[in-house]
Amino acid sequence: KHKGRDLVHIYSDTDKDSEKLRDTIEWIHELQQAIANDNIVLHFQPVMKIKDYSFAYFEALVRLNINGELVYPNSFIPALERAEDIKLLDHQVVAKSISMLAEYPDLKRIAINLSAHAFSDEKLSPLISQKIQQYQVDPKRIIFELTESASLTNLSATMRMIKELNQLGCGFSIDDFGTGFSTFSYLKQLPAKSVKIDGSFVQDMKSDPIDVALVRAIKDIAQSLGKVSVAEFVEDRETLEMLAEIGVDYAQGYYIAKPQPIETALKLKCLPKPKT
Ligand code: C2E
Ligand code: MG
Ligand code: MG
Ligand code: MG
Repeated sequence: KHKGRDLVHIYSDTDKDSEKLRDTIEWIHELQQAIANDNIVLHFQPVMKIKDYSFAYFEALVRLNINGELVYPNSFIPALERAEDIKLLDHQVVAKSISMLAEYPDLKRIAINLSAHAFSDEKLSPLISQKIQQYQVDPKRIIFELTESASLTNLSATMRMIKELNQLGCGFSIDDFGTGFSTFSYLKQLPAKSVKIDGSFVQDMKSDPIDVALVRAIKDIAQSLGKVSVAEFVEDRETLEMLAEIGVDYAQGYYIAKPQPIETALKLKCLPKPKT
């Protein structure tokens, strides 16, 4: 109406934009509710050292408990990433993960995912160091995971943040490697100890020789830069064996264990080592 009488407005992209905006506003509200009611839940998935089948660390994966139902990150992370409000989620996850490290000594090390906005969040590293102090946690027990595309949006801010986290004693890993705009200079510049090969390459290794070649190539690059490689989405024994043959260092996926509440995650048994 504000555009004048007798006009027909054709809705197109702007329509989708307003839909996205509404989605984001709704999820910000859900997030605030979840924070207020202590309904931020962390599940833990082990990452296995392929050489000896031991669990090296657990990845913390966030869920929102909304009216008793667990909602997974794919539903809300994209909407929240469009707003700065995802920083609230990062703060919650960081605080909760570090308190759980203190509460559960058996949780030897954990990986914490950070959003793209985290790396321009000046409040984040002070919060991390404060929580480490408060709970008297060894910072070596913490690895931060950052998705490749996230770090590229602001490489200098990302570098600064990683250096701060490294100074605290925390580790750092590049997540979902191969899906963003991977560049070699980027791999060269980021002081990450490990590279997580994106699950989309790992999932189909059995049937797709191109994926096998890519996994091998990423592992070789990581190795020549002195970084360890981790494969996610390992869903069967055959894939695990292929990864062992290629020389990938760590594996994570449903074949080894699904993400689950801390109580059951800590009781998980390692897979039996194959006799060779
Ligand atoms: P990601 O960091 O790459 O985490 C791996 C995702 O793959 C998890 O999904 C996990 O449950 C799933 N997964 C593990 N093994 C397998 C498998 O064998 N097959 C298949 N198909 N999937 C597997 P989830 O928990 O839904 O998390 C999705 C993404 O959301 C994560 O991807 C991460 O980028 C983000 N995320 C999770 N937790 C947090 C968090 O606390 N903060 C932030 N900022 N992002 C988070
Ligand atoms: Mg991750
Ligand atoms: Mg990952
Ligand atoms: Mg992934």
